[in-house]
This record gives sequence, C-alpha cells and structure tokens, in this order.
Amino acid sequence: MIPIAKPFLGEEEIKAVANVLKSGIIAQGPKVNEIEEKFTKISGAKYAVALNSGTAALHTALKVAGIKENDEVITTPFTFIATANTILMQQAKPVFVDIEEDTFNIDAEKINEKITKKTKAIVTVDLFGHLCDYDVIDEIAEKNNLIIIEDACQAVNAEYKDKKAGSFGDVAAFSFYATKNITCAEGGMMVTGNKDFAGKAKLFRQHGRADMAGYDYNDIGYNYRMTDINAAILLEQLKKLDFLTKKRIENAQYLSEGLGGIKGIGVPAVKKGHKHVFHQYTIKVDGFKLDRDELAKHLNKKGIASSIFYPKSLHLCEHIKKFGYGGGDFPVAEELSKQVLSLPVHPHLTKEQLDLIINSIAELE
Ligand SMILES: *Cc1c(COP(=O)(O)O)cnc(C)c1O
Repeated sequence: MIPIAKPFLGEEEIKAVANVLKSGIIAQGPKVNEIEEKFTKISGAKYAVALNSGTAALHTALKVAGIKENDEVITTPFTFIATANTILMQQAKPVFVDIEEDTFNIDAEKINEKITKKTKAIVTVDLFGHLCDYDVIDEIAEKNNLIIIEDACQAVNAEYKDKKAGSFGDVAAFSFYATKNITCAEGGMMVTGNKDFAGKAKLFRQHGRADMAGYDYNDIGYNYRMTDINAAILLEQLKKLDFLTKKRIENAQYLSEGLGGIKGIGVPAVKKGHKHVFHQYTIKVDGFKLDRDELAKHLNKKGIASSIFYPKSLHLCEHIKKFGYGGGDFPVAEELSKQVLSLPVHPHLTKEQLDLIINSIAELE
C-alpha cells in the first residue's frame, strides 16, 4: 500500500535522540533553545517559541495576541479542527468566511462583510501549503486594526513574493506532527516579530509563570513545553527541509502533468508569485466517471491510500453549530468537502508509484 503520509527519518534522527537520552537533559533544555534560534531563519520572524504541538502553538498565539471571551475571530471553515477549537479555548467566537474554489483558502474578498465592533483578529490558514491572499488580507487588517494570526501548520517553507510562511501574521503557528512536511512526532512553533508576544508565550507554556525563574504565577497557563528529544529530531529535519520541500513540489508537478488533462479531475492551483509546498496534493473530483468516494475505493484496490481533507466544513460540527451556523451557510466549502481527495505526494514516492497513481485514475476515463 502506498501510504498517504510517511515521515522521512533516518539514522541522523535516531542518533540525535540517543544523544539527548544519554545527556541526562531530556525535557526542555539546550536543544529547544537551539531549534528556536534556527527556526527564526526558516520563518523570517524575529522570535520563535517552541511548543509541544501545533495546537499548543496556535492556542498560545491567540492568548498572547489578547484574544479573550466574547471577541470575534474571523477564520475559514475549511481547515483542521484545531484552528477553530483554539479560538473556543479562549472563549472567543469563530466567525467563518467562505473559501476560494481554486486554493481552498479563505476568500479575502468576503472578509469585510463579517467585520463587527467585536472583531479582534483574523486566523488565516495556509491550507495544504499554499499561502493566503495576504495582499488583500493585510490591507483589511490594517484598516480595521485587526491582528493576523497565521496558521502555517501545513506551510513550512512556503513563500509568496519571496516572503516566508510564518512572516505574514503578527504571530504564526507551525506544527511538526508526524504527517507534516517536517516532523518530530509531536511539536509546534510559535513565531512572531513582536517581542512582547514572544515573552508572554514563554511564560504561558510554563503554567503562566510571572517570570522565567521563580514560582510566582499571575495568569492561567499550560504545560506546553517541547522536550529536547523532540527538538533534537527537529534539528535534523531542518537540515533536510529544502530537499523535502523540493521533492514534494516535483512530485506534485509530475502528478499535475499526468492528471491535468483528465475530464472531471481538477488539479491543485498554484497562484502567481507563490511557492506551494504541497503538504497535501488535493484534487477535485467533479464530473468524473466515478464520484469522489468511488474513486477513493478504486485507488485503494490498486494499493494507493488517499484521504479526504476535509469531509466536513467546521461550521457543521456539533459544538460549533450552536453559534447559529447551519447547512448552506458556506456553499463553496460545503461543496468542496464533497469533491476533494488528497493523493500521496510525500518525498518517499518513486517514479513508478507516481505513475501508478496517475494511471489508476487515467485508465478510468
Ligand atoms: C496539523 C494542524 C494543526 C495542529 O497541529 P498539531 O501539531 O496536530 O496539534 C493546526 N492547524 C492546521 C491547519 C493543521 O494542519
């Protein structure tokens, strides 16, 4: 079976973990400091704070940005649940905006109509590794005095006009979960150009300490610390980042060349000026011989795993519906959730496997 995702790990990571275990410092320590320092270069942001998941990084970003009870936070309904759940963790209200049909990202042109006096921030999601339309979003944020929180969990190393993912928000979050483009099993990073945000994040991940040293606390906090074991893995992954990114882009190009001409199969768009890093390679199945679910079954029989990101627009989740959302509110997201199918694009794929994926679809035409 060709898996939908597979971490790219070697002897380097194994050795790095062994060294940390032998060192006696296994929780947050010097490796975490090192990865934070290195990560500022990857993201183009001045400060980086390591956390134990992308969800923790997003939650911390919302907290340090001052998001609190009764605030409204604009975001996309077509994303992983953590994007909305972290807004709920701060007792704020997720206010959704429908998405673009081509990039699956928030439709920047529709943000204005959702802004009220209570709106504090926009959580943008660089979905599947393609950055949002920040030319428009920046302008809206500036005009309305809104904070941009960039969920870059899927977009490490992506670029728009030579600017790096993570540098578009006032604060941004990355994830290093096992399926992400680089991984340390579980891990996250908050990055920001704001010194105050970075300082607050370092206290928030330590139970809300009043300062870095003592046992005085003046706010709620969590244990969101990354361990040196995870940081050591991530340091090795960073060395491979450009290679892994290049592989994904090449695999995606190869798939699009093979699938691009097939009627009823829509290949992913890459907009002008963008470097799409293909965390997912997501096709749209609309007007093809088989419907989306039948195609997934067919691929499975051929030994190819595929996945649906995402089968349900978040406004239809039980615990989010109670804000007054219902079917039909976000027609583009709802329609796309019936059409999307993500195919393997990870760096382990061989040319033969890519050909098998293409031919298994092309043969049905
Ligand atoms: C993976 C992901 C997260 C959460 O990251 P975890 O490390 O799994 O907690 C948040 N948002 C998006 C868009 C993601 O893809």
